[in-house]
Amino acid sequence: MKTESLTELRRSLAGSVLAPGDTDYDAARRSFNALVDRRPAVIARCAEAGDVATAFEYARANELDVAVRGGGHNPAGHCVCDGGLVIDLSLMRAVEVDGDANLARANGGATWLDFDSATQAFGLVTPGGVVGSTGVAGLTLGGGIGHLTAQHGLTCDSLVGAELVTPDGSVVHASADENADLLWALRGGGGNFGVATRLEFRLYPLERVVGGQLVFSGSRVREALRRFRDVVSRSPRDLSCQVGLAADESLAPMLVIAPCFTGSSADPDELRELRSLPGLIDDGVRSHTFMDQQRVIDSPYGENRHYWKGHFVRELPDELIDELLRRLVALDRPPGGILIESLHGAPKDTDGDTAVVGFRRAAFNISAMAIWQDARLDEQYIQWARDTASAIEPWSVSGGYVNYMQADEPLERVRAAFGEEAFERLRALKGRYDPSNVLHRNQNIPPR
Ligand SMILES: Cc1cc2nc3c(=O)[nH]c(=O)nc-3n(C[C@H](O)[C@H](O)[C@H](O)COP(=O)(O)OP(=O)(O)OC[C@H]3O[C@@H](n4cnc5c(N)ncnc54)[C@H](O)[C@@H]3O)c2cc1C
Repeated sequence: MKTESLTELRRSLAGSVLAPGDTDYDAARRSFNALVDRRPAVIARCAEAGDVATAFEYARANELDVAVRGGGHNPAGHCVCDGGLVIDLSLMRAVEVDGDANLARANGGATWLDFDSATQAFGLVTPGGVVGSTGVAGLTLGGGIGHLTAQHGLTCDSLVGAELVTPDGSVVHASADENADLLWALRGGGGNFGVATRLEFRLYPLERVVGGQLVFSGSRVREALRRFRDVVSRSPRDLSCQVGLAADESLAPMLVIAPCFTGSSADPDELRELRSLPGLIDDGVRSHTFMDQQRVIDSPYGENRHYWKGHFVRELPDELIDELLRRLVALDRPPGGILIESLHGAPKDTDGDTAVVGFRRAAFNISAMAIWQDARLDEQYIQWARDTASAIEPWSVSGGYVNYMQADEPLERVRAAFGEEAFERLRALKGRYDPSNVLHRNQNIPPR
């Protein structure tokens, strides 16, 4: 059926349609990043793959720009566009688990809370994101770093299959046996090739972890960070670790370490070592369920303005630590924070033939995350993030992390994230699945 008018679109979709003036329109156009304030002409809340094809057809007939919304978390605000059509997947959140086969099938709009709740009912996990409201699809398609990265690799490494609706309305499957090159591209190449209506993941048994947060403050944060680096560089596979650096109101540095240990020891050496670092002011590390671990980090949706920029680095030498601590106070007010994610362990097991992700050889991902509320400070905070990223750059490898990139990153940064050869292969696949670049609101791969 040809859908050209809004009334026809409303009638054709199994889901629903929101347009300016409709109740819920304003809530539905919000993104995680309050810096992004856009007004689409139509929000198509799809309920099934057929709705996605219908939405593409409507956009084509009306020459509307297209944005795709999963969990709405991408800091670039790619999930919403001015005057165009949003393919909103928030009604498609079911997650089916096959406990015998250790597999989960998530619909395209599922969040990590949806996913973890379903898989934990079977005592199973996949390595996902650390905040429950983030979209499973968006995060996976860009790589995926979280509390189980050292143990099981990047999220995309556990992606074993997908169903996609391409902009011409076709349904395409990707797996090791069918369109294997597309599966390779989906493991890091982002939402460039189609709308993923279903994603299939390998699962692993896990119910309890030793995790939580350790908070350090004051002049010995420098030493604590150095010793943290030494612990993770010994690469214990049963310990994933993320670190946040921030400054309090008096500009004293603060360090938050979020470990996740899955080994058999009740009192592992590495955690004892982290606990004994200098400047500890709060020890919230304990044995708890994986669901509790997934609640350790949270961030309010749509309340703060965000601008993120960073680099993967090959090492974290003392000079870089000093530089990061200098940058924390450079704005003369708390800037947000600097996130340091360790890539030790399982990410190194997979190679470029299996997944396009180009950063797995890096030691850490370091991101300047400017976070603020007052619009009058936009320029200062954005500049802080840019300058902080420049300070990290001398140690950088593999471009930046597409999942954290803002919309103003140049094509060269996206290319560098994959490497020249892989980028050209991605461009050829883009030419096959989305030759007109309908899906361009992303870290874009131009079709060849
Ligand atoms: C609070 C917060 C926590 C985060 N935590 C982590 C983390 O722990 N680890 C990590 O690696 N990253 C993390 N991220 C980054 C996050 O993975 C990316 O920003 C990701 O793009 C968000 O996906 P989304 O679906 O929520 O976002 P959206 O903004 O809805 O989507 C982003 C883009 O992803 C694509 N996309 C989304 N769904 C689909 C689909 N079904 N089919 C095709 N394309 C799709 C589209 O291109 C879309 O524009 C976090 C971000 C935030 C804001």
